[in-house]
Amino acid sequence: MTRPEGWPDTWYARTAVDQHARTALKGPTEADVIIVGAGLAGLTTALHLARAGLKPLVLEARSIGFGASGRNGGLVSPAFAGGDDAIRKRVGEDQAKALHRLSIEGVERLRDTIRDLGIAGADPLPGLLSLRRFDQAQDLKDHVEDFARTYGYEMTYLDRRALANHMTSPRYFHAIHDPNAFHIHPLNTLRAIAAEVERLGGVIHDASPAITADFTAATKQVTTPEGRAEAPRIIFATGGYTGPLVPRLHRAVLPIATYMMISEAAPDLIANAIQTRACMYDDRRAGDYYRLVEGGARLLWGGRITTRAADPAGIAHELRREMLTAYPQLASLKTEISWSGLMGYSRHLMPQLGQMAPNTWHITAFGGHGLNTTAIAGKVLAEAILGETDRIKLFTPFGLDWAGGEVGLLAAQLTYWKLQLQDWWRERG
Ligand SMILES: Cc1cc2nc3c(=O)[nH]c(=O)nc-3n(C[C@H](O)[C@H](O)[C@H](O)COP(=O)(O)OP(=O)(O)OC[C@H]3O[C@@H](n4cnc5c(N)ncnc54)[C@H](O)[C@@H]3O)c2cc1C
Repeated sequence: MTRPEGWPDTWYARTAVDQHARTALKGPTEADVIIVGAGLAGLTTALHLARAGLKPLVLEARSIGFGASGRNGGLVSPAFAGGDDAIRKRVGEDQAKALHRLSIEGVERLRDTIRDLGIAGADPLPGLLSLRRFDQAQDLKDHVEDFARTYGYEMTYLDRRALANHMTSPRYFHAIHDPNAFHIHPLNTLRAIAAEVERLGGVIHDASPAITADFTAATKQVTTPEGRAEAPRIIFATGGYTGPLVPRLHRAVLPIATYMMISEAAPDLIANAIQTRACMYDDRRAGDYYRLVEGGARLLWGGRITTRAADPAGIAHELRREMLTAYPQLASLKTEISWSGLMGYSRHLMPQLGQMAPNTWHITAFGGHGLNTTAIAGKVLAEAILGETDRIKLFTPFGLDWAGGEVGLLAAQLTYWKLQLQDWWRERG
């Protein structure tokens, strides 16, 4: 068994069921559709197209799951990175509701995929607690009621006493429990989807960065360092790792880094702090997300964003500081590994899903909410390519707007610092 070259050192990579590397593309080849990028966006689309009988060729610059899809928090819940209010402002009430329904469908599609493929090692566990670090609850209760009324989506409000059944923390005052959300081992999930694409006749190459892409003619052409591919259709699914290959796409996606760490195995110590097996995030605008893994033996913790790549070990100190504000009893818990990953953000914070030239499609910018949204976007894109539905039109208002380049990155960093300050101020009050 050969580990993929450049395999990142994450807890997911260490515990991956499938660690085999695919070969690089060598020489000329043909397919029904070329997909650039083997994250959840690219591979979900490939899966649906392969199920319909097309032969996808997926080209991955590094290895399957090298990007955000193989190193994220693993929380699967409804919504988009943009948030409902911003979406409503841009497209109005009805379309915003239709999009939110799609995001719920994404949760169900990923759950179905894991069940239908019997994905070993996805380890889905139910439940999500959205935690509040200051004493205000009416908006949470209203939110629960609104979602039940509008979408038939049932969640429960928890007060401090009810929360004490889930965790022992001086920090949290209120929460919403979503029993329908769940969490997974994302790399195992992704690599099993890749195996299914191959079983259905698709071809996937690691170590095959697309270095040129010509989609002006009816036959689309891509070159890699050692190979060349042709197909009548092409899809770009390069997420936060989008480079200058397609300048229009490059200009439309901001790469934002976020960070994760995993603790040593210390089940007894961790049980003093966290008793629930649900995943959690705090509802600050710049909050933390975390969950227990390995049957409660380890704590996986994520948070922070930066617009310049920072040393994950350095950021892990900040994450630990955050963790100890919620669980001071974990002061002696050691961090075993820390890592970072890049999320792709558009200016409007929504996924970019559409057609940029005839038979030339893009599916990018899922931000920090990519598990449910790639699951539904891959389906919706496949439906459009196969001429089955026009659900993709729901994404038309969220085009390839220029993300602002260096200025956009600076603005994103300033916005994040502003949000952090506002979060701090609310908690202080
Ligand atoms: C640390 C972290 C934690 C997160 N936590 C969560 C979470 O808990 N829940 C949630 O819903 N979302 C989470 N997200 C967001 C989610 O992981 C992403 O939105 C989603 O995985 C994006 O999928 P993707 O396929 O678009 O991109 P990626 O998974 O990044 O895949 C893009 C791929 O394209 C490849 N590529 C780029 N350029 C080329 C090229 N020229 N040729 C060939 N290949 C190329 C890259 O190597 C990469 O593998 C998190 C993200 C990170 C980084």
